[in-house]
Amino acid sequence: MDFKLDSSTDSLRLRIRKFVDDELIPLEARPDAYDAHENINEDTLTKYRAKAREAGLWALQMPVARGGQGLSITAMAACYEEMNRSRFGPVVFNSAPPDDGNMIVLEKVATEEQKTRWLQPIVNGEVRSAFVMTEPAPGAGSDPSMMQTTARREGDRWIINGRKWFITAAEVVSHFILIAKTSDDPRKGLTAFLFHADQPGWRIVRRIPIMGPEEHGGHCELEFDGLEIPDENRLMQVGDGLKLTQIRLGTARLTHCMRWLGLARRSMEIARDHVGTRRSGGVLLADREGVQMMLGEAAMQIEIGRLLTMRAAARLDQGDFARKEVSMAKVVVAEALHKAVDTAIQLNGARGYSKDTPLEWIYRYAARRGSSMALRRSTRWFSHAS
Ligand SMILES: Cc1cc2nc3c(=O)[nH]c(=O)nc-3n(C[C@H](O)[C@H](O)[C@H](O)COP(=O)(O)OP(=O)(O)OC[C@H]3O[C@@H](n4cnc5c(N)ncnc54)[C@H](O)[C@@H]3O)c2cc1C
Repeated sequence: MDFKLDSSTDSLRLRIRKFVDDELIPLEARPDAYDAHENINEDTLTKYRAKAREAGLWALQMPVARGGQGLSITAMAACYEEMNRSRFGPVVFNSAPPDDGNMIVLEKVATEEQKTRWLQPIVNGEVRSAFVMTEPAPGAGSDPSMMQTTARREGDRWIINGRKWFITAAEVVSHFILIAKTSDDPRKGLTAFLFHADQPGWRIVRRIPIMGPEEHGGHCELEFDGLEIPDENRLMQVGDGLKLTQIRLGTARLTHCMRWLGLARRSMEIARDHVGTRRSGGVLLADREGVQMMLGEAAMQIEIGRLLTMRAAARLDQGDFARKEVSMAKVVVAEALHKAVDTAIQLNGARGYSKDTPLEWIYRYAARRGSSMALRRSTRWFSHAS
């Protein structure tokens, strides 16, 4: 399998690299660029989003007709890796989760009317979106069939009751994709809906504190108490909620891998810079065989992860769900990121444990791979269910 990029993708990738090097990595060093949750603050984000758009680096995953760059998934893999060498990259280019996965799935499954109303404003960067599936125990988590939030039909409306949690970005989004239970059918019991933040009948119970840096709008617990959704805001057919989730997660899980490879590479760059200048016992650290082996091991894991990611991307481009390939990539890349950032922290000595480099930020972010393990299992469940 040949993963050579065509010349236009490669030149886009290099333009992204330059933007990240010239604009975003210097920005990361400025304390005034951050919000209270260790993310880029909204004012700075608006300014840099405008620069990204002007540079033709906006919404890589969306069709050109919609204002995006129309990339294939393999092309996205190469470009997303470049973009996430900076922690600010994905959100500046409008390729950050959950908007990224939500835009991709809406482009695939929504009707034209739904796309105009619900998708285009996200692509334009006018609103943000959330995906509302996970519930506190004993509800749906790794196993979506345990869903307890219900959608009950009354004429041409659906009435939603239940509780969800870990809903990324909920505090700042306008557009929600909600998965709810519409019957007891084990395969066709879930349905997907769209609703707007201004609709009554739901509330944010709390923003859940987490150990790592947060996406804008946090990770929230939500309560639904009679939210009414018109049937025209149902996505796909009644009973297609699990199918929509599979369609969304197929690509969305792989885009996590693409982005994580960028963070892993950045970690290695920071390690390389340190061992390339720091001496011990009269010898450059980079010339110590033990150090070279640590770097080589981490680099090898990144390379394996990249190959698995590209292979899964190629299968998705061919129209396959690529469940096995995406799952393998997700497990290996999550481990590769953890290995790379841990190696970089160790090789930077005390500096690695400080907040003077982005390594500790990346390390806490990488701990999320626990939830990726859960998602890997959910894939196993999906493959039984479909
Ligand atoms: C940072 C973050 C952001 C998130 N954003 C969103 C979001 O925007 N929207 C949303 O809907 N959800 C979101 N989630 C939730 C995420 O999708 C769930 O955490 C995930 O699906 C796992 O569900 P759970 O947490 O209930 O784990 P559980 O299902 O309780 O699993 C607990 C552990 O058991 C393991 N396990 C489960 N089943 C098996 C099995 N059959 N065999 C062996 N081990 C098993 C899991 O791997 C996990 O390690 C987010 C989570 C995090 C951490």
